[in-house]
Amino acid sequence: MDLYSGYIGRLIAELAVLPGIGNKSAQRLAFHIINMPKDQVEKLADAMTSAREHIRYCNTCYTLTDKETCPVCSDPSRNKKQIMVVENTRDMTAYEKTHKYDGVYHVLHGAINPGMGIGPSDIKLAELIKRLQSDVDEVIIATNSSIEGETTAMYISKLIKPTGIKVTRIASGVPVGGELEYIDEVTLSRALDARVEL
Ligand code: ZN
Repeated sequence: MDLYSGYIGRLIAELAVLPGIGNKSAQRLAFHIINMPKDQVEKLADAMTSAREHIRYCNTCYTLTDKETCPVCSDPSRNKKQIMVVENTRDMTAYEKTHKYDGVYHVLHGAINPGMGIGPSDIKLAELIKRLQSDVDEVIIATNSSIEGETTAMYISKLIKPTGIKVTRIASGVPVGGELEYIDEVTLSRALDARVEL
């Protein structure tokens, strides 16, 4: 039986769909929301629908952005011949925060994970290969050091090697299984500096 039938039940159900939010957290959030001032709730709801409506993939690196081409790709001072491959926009943001990288990015939106049925065609890999037809000096693989991240790195490296483009992998100063976005900026820039050629 649904104890909170009606509007609250619906709100809890919608919140529980979010990643990392179990039923308990969903209930806590739902009760927090209904106790919030009305205008604040409206702001929250509007932020969600507006973000969903306006955010799209950059036409070059596929990061999430509200422009056709993201700020990094449209910045003339960035080195377009150096492409860092990351799993998601959060990882790209983590590298941007180090202010130590002046190349561009390619966002895969995932990693190869056979156990979960995620293959090479389920991430933005074909899009990366297409980008390599332009003048590229180096591809830096900065996927996470999880099994999926390493599998993806290996796969990409094998794919690119025959083209003669230099392929490097960020150093494993990054803890195993560690998600890039949680690693501090110093560790990240060190991992980048100490990258090794594959
Ligand atoms: Zn871009």
